[in-house]
Amino acid sequence: MSKENTSIHDFDFQIICEYFSGLERQGPGSPENTLKALSFIKGLSDHAQIADIGCGTGSHTRVMAQHISGQIIGVDLFPEFIALFNQHAINLKLEKRVKGIAGNMESLPFENESLDLIWSEGAIYNIGFERGLIEWKKFLKKDGHIAISEACWFTDSRPAEIEAFWLDAYPGIDTIGNKTVQLMKAGFKPIAVFILPENCWKENFYVPQKPLQVQFLSKYAGNTTAEAFVANERREAELYEKYSYYYGYAFFIAQKI
Ligand code: SAH
Repeated sequence: MSKENTSIHDFDFQIICEYFSGLERQGPGSPENTLKALSFIKGLSDHAQIADIGCGTGSHTRVMAQHISGQIIGVDLFPEFIALFNQHAINLKLEKRVKGIAGNMESLPFENESLDLIWSEGAIYNIGFERGLIEWKKFLKKDGHIAISEACWFTDSRPAEIEAFWLDAYPGIDTIGNKTVQLMKAGFKPIAVFILPENCWKENFYVPQKPLQVQFLSKYAGNTTAEAFVANERREAELYEKYSYYYGYAFFIAQKI
């Protein structure tokens, strides 16, 4: 029945939100690597306008805000993440410069040529790397920068099991070389590309999920949606353990030409 389907769908969103709200970050990364990416961006003024797209609860946004001046607007689809984002900003007395808004990366609320920097960690896959670059570029001023982490293959070929997993999860995954070409075709000049080290995935993302999963399974005992969700997260972590040689995130820093 449609009512039943709607409630299952709503519950999916609710558990995804509840689960990831309990984590410091909602995707792989680290403060050190946020700062490393930031170090390649020269000439940001004290009045720089910055957008952090798919910001989640904003752990990296706060790291950025503590190292640069300027206004940062975080955008995320989930209002629950934005509420946490704004609360954290208040706690750190950053609320005058750091604001979160609920919104969709497919229809961003920015004026054309209004931004100096578009940041996005582990989130552009929701719109697709190429499409995101093409659609977001108009919001950047000339010479404005992007800094985006994105799932990439590290080798030209890889075992069938991991290839099949990713082609199902995110068919847009590609080699760093091909992503760089996409970036250039979209009208950007590459400044730097680096691979996020494994601790960004393991210690900072998968390990903190382990106690949460136990807690979740106990809270939602017998709930097949919650069980399937946790099983999926565990499988993803196991595959990373097995195949991290072949894939991960690369951080792309580039400038609009
Ligand atoms: N950048 C954060 C979150 C990464 S997870 C971090 O690294 O911790 C991906 C994020 O993209 C999630 O917070 C999710 O809610 C958000 N998201 C998914 N689809 C979106 C969309 N269409 N528009 C805006 N945000 C979206």
